[in-house]
Amino acid sequence: EAITVGELANRMAERVADVVKALMQNGMMVTQNQTIDADTAELIVEDFGHHVVRVSDADVEQVIESADDKPEDLVNRPPVITVMGHVDHGKTSLLDAIRNAKVVSGEAGGITQHIGAYQVQTEGGQLLTFLDTPGHAAFTSMRSRGAQVTDIVVLVVAADDAVMPQTVEAINHAKAAKVPMIVAINKIDKPEANPTKVRTDLLQHEVVVEQMSGDVQDVEVSAHTGDGLDDLLEAIALQAELLELKANPDRAAQGAVIEAQLDVGRGPVATVLIQNGTLHQGDIFVVGEQYGKVRALVNDKGDRVKEAGPSVPVEVLGLNGTPEAGDVLNVVSTEAQAREIAEYRAQAAKDKRAAAGAATTLEQLMQRAKEDENVTEMPIVVKADVQGSAEAIVQAMEKIGNDEVRVRVLHSGVGAITESDIGLAEASGAPVFGFNVRANAPARNSANQKGVEIRYYSVIYDLVDDVKAAASGLLSAEI
Ligand code: GDP
Repeated sequence: EAITVGELANRMAERVADVVKALMQNGMMVTQNQTIDADTAELIVEDFGHHVVRVSDADVEQVIESADDKPEDLVNRPPVITVMGHVDHGKTSLLDAIRNAKVVSGEAGGITQHIGAYQVQTEGGQLLTFLDTPGHAAFTSMRSRGAQVTDIVVLVVAADDAVMPQTVEAINHAKAAKVPMIVAINKIDKPEANPTKVRTDLLQHEVVVEQMSGDVQDVEVSAHTGDGLDDLLEAIALQAELLELKANPDRAAQGAVIEAQLDVGRGPVATVLIQNGTLHQGDIFVVGEQYGKVRALVNDKGDRVKEAGPSVPVEVLGLNGTPEAGDVLNVVSTEAQAREIAEYRAQAAKDKRAAAGAATTLEQLMQRAKEDENVTEMPIVVKADVQGSAEAIVQAMEKIGNDEVRVRVLHSGVGAITESDIGLAEASGAPVFGFNVRANAPARNSANQKGVEIRYYSVIYDLVDDVKAAASGLLSAEI
């Protein structure tokens, strides 16, 4: 009778970070993947003002098999890789080059299917799973829905251009998610390529590559000529070994939706990346607010398959509706259970929307801080008009707080507040501060929708004062 923290958050349509904090307030130090018992879960559900609906007497908690696997049941699983970097630095080209170079010839005529992710094999025989949507928008939106699927980030930096604003954003997203990075210095075929400049540029963002005696692997590649691709894949395989990624293939499947759409011929189709267990044809599942029974599974080569194990991406047919990217899929034993859980979630999400604006404002952050004696970090995102201001603000922020409390600048940059900033803020429960810059329209909409607070300032002292006040809320909570 247990449930993982992530799943509990998912079912309540609350953010994982909020649930973790609520548990901390109740004296439990847990992370997203840890399990808590049904009684604790009930307490938390009530804390959030939701009704406890134990869907069946056997408990919802029991319906979805606990994530606790015995060590002896665990086997190695392939790493899942997301490619990030600045626009035009060659993310798409690199993903295509890897796919084309590594597709096993003869398989389904060598024609690959774009399903949102694909698997390749290295020279050394290691399987790797690549997410096919480059960039940090997808990465962050998945994370904010509670699905952390990426094990390794490949940061693409063009050797003829070096570190750019979105490179920095990507670095900060990877750091916020605590996902290790490998730097791919791309376009090495270009005469003006200057990989050394890339490496020194990265130093300024606390990314110290191996060539600079650091511990972040760096590989020179060309998506055009194919040079270095094998080295990159081997670097990824090495990093994966260090991570010791494991899963239990012999349990009910759990996965995350990579992409989903309503297909004219086939109905709702979702590409699911299996994270644990094995998904079989005929399995009954719940995925976000949808449910279904696996009618067919199609792999990245376009072949029908009977099952899919850990780290394998598959298209799933047989859904009653279209889920969203980042939704978590769980296999359950009966269709009635699947429907009930899906309906429960849909209702919870509706309640949540009705309660509106329930996200992170600075006041709420202070309030929460007062209630919570264990809060030690106050995450924020800062955008400014010029580099000098951004730096001044970050420096001022770093001085706020003491051993118990500190302000953590998740990202600072120059320019308008964008959707990417909102995504990052939401995923980490942070407000966004604009100094002499505004949010663009998509960012404003996204902030409204997600309830992320944006604050505008034109005087640094005002900004510092507000954050100090919030932090002192945290400080006084310590006394
Ligand atoms: P993305 O925006 O990061 O996905 O970048 P793209 O993959 O679309 O690449 C942007 C441009 O750079 C395209 O015109 C590519 O043809 C080019 N490009 C990508 N990789 C390389 C490379 O290794 N060498 C050269 N010379 N050009 C490249």
